[in-house]
Amino acid sequence: MQVAIDGPASAGKSTVAKIIAQKLNFIYIDTGAMYRACTVIARDNKLDYGDEAAILAAIDRVGIELRSVNGEQKVYAGNKDISLAIRTPTISANVSQVSALAGIRTKMVSLQRQMAGKVDVIMDGRDIGTTVLPNAEVKIFLVASPRSRAERRLHDFQERGIKSTKTVAEIEHDIAERDYKDSHRKVSPLKKAPDAVEIDTTTMSIDQVVSAILAEIKKSQKKL
Ligand code: C5P
Repeated sequence: MQVAIDGPASAGKSTVAKIIAQKLNFIYIDTGAMYRACTVIARDNKLDYGDEAAILAAIDRVGIELRSVNGEQKVYAGNKDISLAIRTPTISANVSQVSALAGIRTKMVSLQRQMAGKVDVIMDGRDIGTTVLPNAEVKIFLVASPRSRAERRLHDFQERGIKSTKTVAEIEHDIAERDYKDSHRKVSPLKKAPDAVEIDTTTMSIDQVVSAILAEIKKSQKKL
């Protein structure tokens, strides 16, 4: 079975996808982490974030891999663990430019489809239901108000002991800017698939969102 979860930044996609993957013993694939890894590789090789050919060559040279280490998903560039490096504000601010490059998307989408292979998978991103897994049995589009997404992100920083130099309003602005770029790019923009179920998580707890998605999965299993 394939479960696709799309939606704007910080809507809680990865949090709920991880929980569901664990409950159902599905493989979880965080596609945002892959575009973030491309951006880290571009930065570490001092490449222009718009230089598609050079970034592609560097990715081929280094290699990107998602590995499960003690039940935790880690992101590797070659043998280097870049799981923390992909989450820094500089990478968040530049990832939309790199992810808009057509050649990068072709490469990542092909990797994502390979990883999904024939296993039960839950994949989150921006174009999973529309492009990567158009035949997914369950498609969810998670949304939440920009303010609540900014508050969650700030809370996330605090939980991880990261001191944010930004206010909630500034984080909200950054998120809105990234969503704008992701929804307006030419190739596979962030968009709800026509057959996706939209869930607004603004006033929902994590458990409630998980239950709502599990209910959709059960519904589609009955149909199989
Ligand atoms: O999900 P996350 O916020 O980590 O994604 C980081 C960025 O990667 C997004 O803002 C978007 O530019 C890009 N992305 C994408 N397509 C996906 C997943 C992420 O373009 N399927």
